[in-house]
Amino acid sequence: MQPILPILHDFPLQSLNTFGIAARARHYLRVTDGAQLAAACADPALAALPRLVLGGGSNLLFTRDFDGLVLHMALAGRAIVGQLDGATLVRAQAGENWHGFVQWTLAQGLGGLENLSLIPGTVGAAPIQNIGAYGAEIKDVFHSLTAFDMASGELRTLGAAECRFGYRDSLFKHPEGARLVVLDVTFALPRDWQPNVRYAELAQALIEAGIGAPTPRQVSDAVVAIRQRKLPDPAVIGNAGSFFKNPVVSGEQCERLLAAFPDLVHHRQPDGSEKLAAGWLIDRCGWKGRSMGAAGVYPKQALVLVNNGGARGEDVVQLARAIQADVAQRYGVQLEPEPVFI
Ligand SMILES: Cc1cc2nc3c(=O)[nH]c(=O)nc-3n(C[C@H](O)[C@H](O)[C@H](O)COP(=O)(O)OP(=O)(O)OC[C@H]3O[C@@H](n4cnc5c(N)ncnc54)[C@H](O)[C@@H]3O)c2cc1C
Repeated sequence: MQPILPILHDFPLQSLNTFGIAARARHYLRVTDGAQLAAACADPALAALPRLVLGGGSNLLFTRDFDGLVLHMALAGRAIVGQLDGATLVRAQAGENWHGFVQWTLAQGLGGLENLSLIPGTVGAAPIQNIGAYGAEIKDVFHSLTAFDMASGELRTLGAAECRFGYRDSLFKHPEGARLVVLDVTFALPRDWQPNVRYAELAQALIEAGIGAPTPRQVSDAVVAIRQRKLPDPAVIGNAGSFFKNPVVSGEQCERLLAAFPDLVHHRQPDGSEKLAAGWLIDRCGWKGRSMGAAGVYPKQALVLVNNGGARGEDVVQLARAIQADVAQRYGVQLEPEPVFI
C-alpha cells in the first residue's frame, strides 16, 4: 500500500536555506522514508510537477518561489556496515547532518573524513558536488551510494566511477544524473589512517599547536578552528560558503597572466592546467567588504557573498554578475558560481 504523503502547501523556505532568502514552495514534503519518494513519483499529479530535492539548503540560491514540489531529505541513520580491503565501511542516510556524521565517525575511532569537518549540509548532498576542503574531497574515501531514480522508480547502487566525480562536480549535476535522488552514502575509511596535511594552513596550525603526529580528532579540531576563524556562520550571517568555483585555466593563459600580475595565486594541476584562486581575483578587483543593496562580499573572505539582512536572491545575483564582469574584464577569466540557482 502506498503511504499517505504529508504534503504541505505554500511552505516557507527561508529557514531551510543558509542564505536566509525568503522564498516559498508551492508544495513541500519532508521525506523521512525512501518509500515516500516512490509514492510521490507514482502519483500522476505529483509526478507532473517540477521537483527540487533539498538537503540543508547550504549550496542553493533561491531567486524566486519554487512553483513545484520540494522534497526535503530527512532520512536518518548511520552505521558501520562492514570491512573491505583494509577499510571500514560506514553508511549514513541522506538526511544526516554532514558534520554530525563526520564527528560520529571520529567517535568510532575512524579517520578519513576529518579534513571535511564543519562543511554545512547533509550527507546526501555531499556527493552532488564532491565536497572538498583542506586538500581532501569525498571521492578520496567514497565507496558507493544508493539512489532513487525518479524517472523509472528504481533503486540503483552507484560506485565511484559511475558517479564521475570531478572538482565540485559529479554525474548528479548533469542532465543524465539529475533524476537521481541520493538515499544513502557509504564510505570506506582506511584502518591504516595517515593524516592529510598537504594543505599549508592546516599543517601550520598543527605545528603551532605543537602537534607532530596528529590524530584524526586533532586534525578535525584544527580544521574546525580555521573554518570558524575564516568563514561566516550561516546562523549569524546568511551565506552559501564559496560563491564561485576556483577557475581552471591553461598553462599558457596562466603564464600570460603571471607576466601582468606576478603575485597571481595559482596551483598547477596534474594535467598541466592551473587552478586560480577566485578569492584572490575578486579581492584584487576591490570587492572585499563591498555591498550592493543588502547583498555583500564578506570582509574576511572575498569568495563568500553574504546576505546583510533582507537580501532577495536577485540582489545576490546582481552582485555576482557585477563581480564576474569585473574579473572577466581585468583578468579575462570567467567565474562560475558554485551554488545552484533556483
Ligand atoms: C559556510 C559554508 C561553508 C561551506 N564550505 C564548503 C566547503 O568547504 N566545501 C564544499 O564543497 N562546500 C562547501 N559549502 C557548500 C555546501 O555546504 C555543500 O555543497 C553541501 O554539500 C550542500 O549540502 P546541502 O545538504 O545543504 O545541499 P543543498 O544546498 O540542499 O542542495 C545542493 C544541491 O544538491 C542537491 N541535493 C541535495 N540533496 C540531495 C540528495 N539527497 N539527492 C540528490 N540531490 C540532492 C540539491 O537539489 C541541489 O542541487 C559551504 C557552505 C556554507 C554555507
